[in-house]
Amino acid sequence: GKADIECEMVVLGAGPGGYSAAFRSADLGMKTVLIERYETLGGVCLNVGCIPSKALLHAASITNEAAALASHGISFGKPEIDLDKLRAFKSGVVGKMTNGLAGMAKARKVQVVTGVGSFVGANHIEVVAKDGSKQVIKFEKAIIAAGSQAVKLPFMPEDPRVVDSTGALELPSIPEKMLVIGGGIIGLEMATVYSALGSKIDVVEMLDGLMLGADRDLVKVWEKYNAKRFANLMLKTKTTQAEARPDGIYVSFEGEKAPAEAQRYDLVLVAVGRSANGKRIGAEKAGVTVTDRGFIEVDKQMRTNVPHIFAIGDLVGQPMLAHKAVHEAHVAAEAAHGEKAYFDALQIPSVAFTDPEVAWAGKTEDQLKDEGVAYEKAVFPWAASGRAVANGRDEGFTKLIFDKETHRVLGGAIVGLNAGDLISEICLAVEMGADATDIGKTIHPHPTLGESIGMAAELFEGVCTDLP
Ligand code: FAD
Repeated sequence: GKADIECEMVVLGAGPGGYSAAFRSADLGMKTVLIERYETLGGVCLNVGCIPSKALLHAASITNEAAALASHGISFGKPEIDLDKLRAFKSGVVGKMTNGLAGMAKARKVQVVTGVGSFVGANHIEVVAKDGSKQVIKFEKAIIAAGSQAVKLPFMPEDPRVVDSTGALELPSIPEKMLVIGGGIIGLEMATVYSALGSKIDVVEMLDGLMLGADRDLVKVWEKYNAKRFANLMLKTKTTQAEARPDGIYVSFEGEKAPAEAQRYDLVLVAVGRSANGKRIGAEKAGVTVTDRGFIEVDKQMRTNVPHIFAIGDLVGQPMLAHKAVHEAHVAAEAAHGEKAYFDALQIPSVAFTDPEVAWAGKTEDQLKDEGVAYEKAVFPWAASGRAVANGRDEGFTKLIFDKETHRVLGGAIVGLNAGDLISEICLAVEMGADATDIGKTIHPHPTLGESIGMAAELFEGVCTDLP
């Protein structure tokens, strides 16, 4: 058919998946078009996800540390919070990153088309701009990277005091009383931010534990450390009803920890998961199969059921994480270019950037038990780490999980300050097939938190008699 633009590669959506796919395609010499509905590139992660949340979490962690210094003999007094300035700082961070991306797109001659894209055939996408004008793009190959969006609770009133993570990141105000619905990573990160700002926070979670996916030993440490921070942690409980009144949102609960009466909140954050955008892009017109839940199924080359169309990122399934999207993007672009690229990662790390942080990589103990794999583990308590004690933060631990036979590292996890930065060594160990000796015999710098990984490996070797 007729087309306004013709290209070898079109990428739909400019989140971490989409921009990475477009950049790699362009680097491989393909004429590439990147379609994004919003004015800025970067998707959820840069605009309303990973990056703004970390700008606020950094401020929260310094605030918490400053307060904790009182017990070391240095007091800063009560923090004075200028919410406008904090918001401006956060927006500045996002602006720097998204501008950087625009520059990188330009440098690579990736053509950015702004508007809502929808397939109109197996080789055509129509893009509708804000002003209603339309363009048709004809492509040889496509990568779908349209991401995900926050799940809504149907009974929540339409009210500015009921927000999703995007609304919470806008920092509308510092609520006196806040309810976080959902004890996953996103909910708990936002709870960490608002608690540092001074809000009294309740958390409600339907399951019997927080941070689904993490081993329970990590979560136990986190819960103990945070017991005082959160007013009421309601596990095995769900919200059933909510009503907007002039003085607050009144929420009713049901379950094990449900308060008898409806509770009043100044702000309610709904963080109950994210749903894939597969049903909003006209995929069926291109012949691409989308599941009931909006996901697109792909093979190890990120190829959909239509061989010249690929899909990546949140839209192809869990874990919905930026670093997973980026790696899938590279595979898809390379495979589309005809290379033998496959997504065959042995591990995808997860991090909750809370206080303390919780990070895990490779197999968890829970997974290995489910799979019936024989494993052994070593747990190094941070109470024995000079650096953790010196930091006044020795509540955490570092755990390595080994194959029982080969002693190769199958996974590992850390709870404690900076766990998210520390986990990378374990990611590398899993990918490289490192064993306990490789890590234990590697000289780590002293005194550091990273040393705890070496020490966990040494601990394992010490108790393991079949090693020399
Ligand atoms: P997205 O980032 O969702 O991008 C999709 C893009 O496609 C969007 O820009 C959207 O506007 C565009 N789009 C969709 N449909 C169309 C259409 N029809 N036409 C045009 N454009 C379209 N992950 C981490 O790894 N670390 C973190 O610390 C982290 N923190 C997070 C914090 C929060 C609050 C949230 C919400 C998420 C966080 N995530 C984090 C998850 C991370 O943001 C996502 O995994 C990541 O953004 C997924 O990338 P993606 O490219 O698949 O999709």
